[in-house]
Amino acid sequence: MSSPLEQNPLIWAEIDLQAIGHNCREVKRVIPSNTLFMAVVKANACGHGALEAARTALENGADRLGVARMAEGIALRQSGFQVPILVLGPTDPADTPSLLDYDLSQTIFDPEQARGFSRQALALGKTLQAHLKIDTGMGRLGLVAAPDSEAPVPFKPEALNQALDIARLPGLDFEGCYTHFARADSADKTHARGQLDCFLALIRDLKKQGLEFKLSHAANSAGVIDLPESHLDMVRPGIMLYGLYPSKEVDQQAVSLKPAMSLKTRVAQIKKVGPGFVVSYGSTFAARQATSIATLPVGYADGYRRNLSSRAEMLVHGVRAPVVGRVCMDQTMLDVGHIPGVKAGDEVVILGKQGEESMPAEALADLLGSINYEVVAGLMKRVPRVYTQLHPEG
Ligand SMILES: *Cc1c(COP(=O)(O)O)cnc(C)c1O
Repeated sequence: MSSPLEQNPLIWAEIDLQAIGHNCREVKRVIPSNTLFMAVVKANACGHGALEAARTALENGADRLGVARMAEGIALRQSGFQVPILVLGPTDPADTPSLLDYDLSQTIFDPEQARGFSRQALALGKTLQAHLKIDTGMGRLGLVAAPDSEAPVPFKPEALNQALDIARLPGLDFEGCYTHFARADSADKTHARGQLDCFLALIRDLKKQGLEFKLSHAANSAGVIDLPESHLDMVRPGIMLYGLYPSKEVDQQAVSLKPAMSLKTRVAQIKKVGPGFVVSYGSTFAARQATSIATLPVGYADGYRRNLSSRAEMLVHGVRAPVVGRVCMDQTMLDVGHIPGVKAGDEVVILGKQGEESMPAEALADLLGSINYEVVAGLMKRVPRVYTQLHPEG
């Protein structure tokens, strides 16, 4: 959202909400009708704008929301969202009053942390909604259930009693139990299937002990796309809602995704220069022949990473133009000598399509040795988001 003072932003991200809606309907299309759909809108919906993405997802089949941090959940509640919201990341148990005030469900993954939440909730005379997270091989948050090696046990035996102890703590209500895949986006699903087996074995044995969860869940976008057996009671897709595939190895035919974000700017200045003209800090680029250099108001403080210096391309008049010299904090230069008639004010596409050309997030990610997730999530707050397909109610 551009501020009223910035009616003519120099750089802006166009977010196509119809694309997000379409992607959500694709999720619905491939999951069983009785499987719940939690739209993961963490990190400002990977840079797309959490409120708009959440609203669009809920209008297109999502049942509830997932966030990484409590503050993200509070922001959604303050904007009026009333669906269940799960905090996927850690929260300090001392913040239990806020979790309760805003009716947020908290991920619990450790006996000590669980006791902290239990004490806090009891002191307030309330019950905290929670989901128990099991580490089946991601090695991140979660009660460790993954066997250390190729051990013959399906899960670490102590995980069973730890889970039972946590779930029986007073002041906590565990609606769900979940795990998270490390490699569901690889062509080789052995590890992901191993994680799922570990998780399901634990769930089964907990049930035998009288502990049953309403919702068992595991699938991220890669699970939604490539592992139907992981859909269970609920799925938790994030990146695919924004039209990006979690990797090049997942089945691109299984769902048709439309990228929702484009990043655009305008030429600030155009210079006709002669051979030897040097550009930007360090003078790392010198023109070999007469050419035209366009200066653009985009830099690493917008999330256009400095590692793209003299490597990336942008689209001008539907033609690819190379970034020359170093990307600065707020400005970047292009060589547009091969594109006739470029003038100040002309639109430049940094990410997205222009004419027949396109610059996908994956192309920038490849140059950075990174992934599409980081390209979109790395777009800074100062870049206004412009919603191109606004809802009737605004
Ligand atoms: C980020 C995250 C997701 C969504 O993952 P995508 O790869 O973006 O679909 C789901 N679950 C958890 C626990 C997460 O942290």
